[in-house]
Amino acid sequence: MNRDPAERLSPDRAWPVAILGATGAVGQTFVRLLARHPWFRVAEVAASERSVGRRYGDAVRWLEGELPEEIARLQVLTCDPAEVRSPLVFSALDSSVAGSVEESFARAGALVFSNAKNHRMDPDVPLLIAEVNPSHRHLIAEQRRRRGWSGGIVTNPNCAATVAAMALAPLHERFGVRAVTAFTMQAVSGAGYPGVPSLDILANVIPYIADEEEKVERELRKLLGDLRDHSVVPADFAVSAHCNRVPTEHGHMVCMSVRLDSECQPADVITALCEWHGAEESRRLPSAPRPPIVYRAEPDRPQTRRDVWAGGGMSVTVGRVRSDPSGGIKLVALGHNTYRGAAGCSILNAELLVADQSPAGA
Ligand code: NAP
Repeated sequence: MNRDPAERLSPDRAWPVAILGATGAVGQTFVRLLARHPWFRVAEVAASERSVGRRYGDAVRWLEGELPEEIARLQVLTCDPAEVRSPLVFSALDSSVAGSVEESFARAGALVFSNAKNHRMDPDVPLLIAEVNPSHRHLIAEQRRRRGWSGGIVTNPNCAATVAAMALAPLHERFGVRAVTAFTMQAVSGAGYPGVPSLDILANVIPYIADEEEKVERELRKLLGDLRDHSVVPADFAVSAHCNRVPTEHGHMVCMSVRLDSECQPADVITALCEWHGAEESRRLPSAPRPPIVYRAEPDRPQTRRDVWAGGGMSVTVGRVRSDPSGGIKLVALGHNTYRGAAGCSILNAELLVADQSPAGA
């Protein structure tokens, strides 16, 4: 397979892609989404020594739906660029190994789309949501210049940060965000597989997820920041996050109090949410949900069970927009953590970069 940067990105034919960490919760979502993808074809899967050398269908504890037979048949490879040769690499690796493994692939010429936290805040690495901050992808040129590699690393945010950023983007664009307080209720699949022990989470709420609040606080500001002179100037607002694990299966709910730079009523915010279709360059990508934000006017929505699959798991549902007595507005946002908040976001980012090479294909 050719990893020549000049030839590897083109939407004119289905590009061979690899999934690192293919056996985990996010890895399996990649398999599900890519099995029917118009531009990408899963050519390689890789995971830990526990799985290497086995047939994917035997190594994975497949969690939902039908495992496509052509992917079940693939042999699980080592996460090593000498073995995995695809030019596009989706990483669903555990953060204990993701950092150095992803660098080795970028050095070998692959374009890596990562779900792990390791490189998200590197100044030359895009932290990208295609609908929200597509211009940040241009950091890749700076990354290649600085690091001297022909590949690259593009990251997508923490799953709760993704849901919050989608809801905040239209408000930041139209009114300017001054401060955010966010309370999350995060599903168990957010902890991967096997994740949280059942006796810890059944009939329980855990008001702590390691490092999660810090991730939401710093990533939101980078996501909604501006690209200037080859770096991102973080958005100038304060974020305070309270993160909780709750006994739902999929879907992170984020309740937010938002102070805005300009005076506005809930009706203005609802209009901004409903009129927002995401950045122009994201709109025609194959995985882009239409619309990216689903606004629900009912007083008791969004609800996890009823709304988590909006837009095939790729839309964020927002409701309960109302005035906050302490100033600003309050709202509730919900998104699927492994689709919108992980694999789906990565795939959309890859489509964005591939479309750059051939606008006609987008
Ligand atoms: P997971 O279910 O625990 O899966 C981890 C994957 O990493 C498995 O495929 C595992 O392979 C592989 N792995 C572990 N140690 C390895 C090693 N030493 N060498 C090679 N592969 C190794 O975790 P997950 O929830 O899918 O999360 C994957 C990544 O996405 C994490 O960085 C996580 O923080 C991030 N993320 C997760 C979510 C979510 O909603 N779950 C959302 C956003 C981001 P084996 O099965 O062979 O051990």
